[in-house]
Amino acid sequence: MDFIVPDYIQSIEPYEPGKPIEELERDYGIQDSIKLASNENPLGPSPKALLAIKSIMKDLHRYPDGGGYKLLDKLAANLAVSPETIILGNGSDEVIGLLSRTLLAPGDEAIMPQPSFLMYDITVRGVGAEAIKVPLKTDMTLDLEAILGRVSQRTRIIFLCNPNNPTGTVFSSSDLTIFLKELPSGVTVVIDEAYIEFVRDPNCAHGLEFFKSGFPVVTLRTFSKIYGLAGLRIGYGVMPSRLANLIHRIRQPFNAGTLAQVGATAALDDEEFLIKTVTLVHSGLDYLFEAIGKMGLHCFPTQANFFLIDVQEDADAVFEGMLAEGVIVRSMRSYGYPHYIRINVGLPHENERFVAALAKVLNLNGPI
Ligand code: PMP
Repeated sequence: MDFIVPDYIQSIEPYEPGKPIEELERDYGIQDSIKLASNENPLGPSPKALLAIKSIMKDLHRYPDGGGYKLLDKLAANLAVSPETIILGNGSDEVIGLLSRTLLAPGDEAIMPQPSFLMYDITVRGVGAEAIKVPLKTDMTLDLEAILGRVSQRTRIIFLCNPNNPTGTVFSSSDLTIFLKELPSGVTVVIDEAYIEFVRDPNCAHGLEFFKSGFPVVTLRTFSKIYGLAGLRIGYGVMPSRLANLIHRIRQPFNAGTLAQVGATAALDDEEFLIKTVTLVHSGLDYLFEAIGKMGLHCFPTQANFFLIDVQEDADAVFEGMLAEGVIVRSMRSYGYPHYIRINVGLPHENERFVAALAKVLNLNGPI
């Protein structure tokens, strides 16, 4: 029997995550491989989160707190917003999906940069709405003017990724001010700040400031990157409480698990880990840009913990070649960049191993 499903579901390509280390080692029969493909935290999870998770495991026979009281309370205090404005999710991925399901009906439109994080497109099309893609400018930044130009009567959401994945570029507060002032009412702007903690550019926009000034902006954040908790699945969105109320009607009652809530709450106290992570990422970026630059390859300037490299060859072939060296990177062919790969910063020895493997795969001289 064939399943009868809407065409808009049939046409969606599944999200392809970075290759897991275990899969590579199984497929290639190798060990000690490294993964620089999913923008994860090379230091591992926040130690404070781990301790808190261990202490709560004995309570796992109970359902989680469906209201997420403690985590919301702490987040609200840290961000200086009210707890009613925060929606927790099974990763910020889930919050993206909840926003699409709440705000979009079949026939509506959501605008997003191209390329950007693939879950905007998938969740929008998953509810039968239309994903309008606006190419980046030649300098790889978001084309906010062109996005405005695509707003129609049917536009309900605009997704902006800051820093943008996969390019690592940011837009400034002044750019966002102009953009929001020109936007007609009835359009919700979702600013995905999954990598905001890594930003060094002082002019970078922060969604929360605009939210606090009364703009209809949703800010998405995650514990997956800066706190090293990608496997725990916890993220959140800050938004007008009217919108949060609507989302509560359709979300699962226990969408943020007990371990996730407890781990995230403890991570918020782990300032030491946050600083250690940011310092490691910045020094790793500086090392990698210099080493890869010396090989004659162009790295695209980034504000995140990852960046693009123009390998001047077929990126899928380079991806495969690197796998054989035990190094997992991301080919950008499916994002429309057939000659670029994306890597995230690893530990110093992982960064060095990446550089040596890339030189070998591309037949170039490594850094002197
Ligand atoms: N937004 C962006 C831009 C991302 O890169 C990611 C993770 N790859 C997410 C959201 C989702 O993060 P999570 O669901 O782990 O919170």
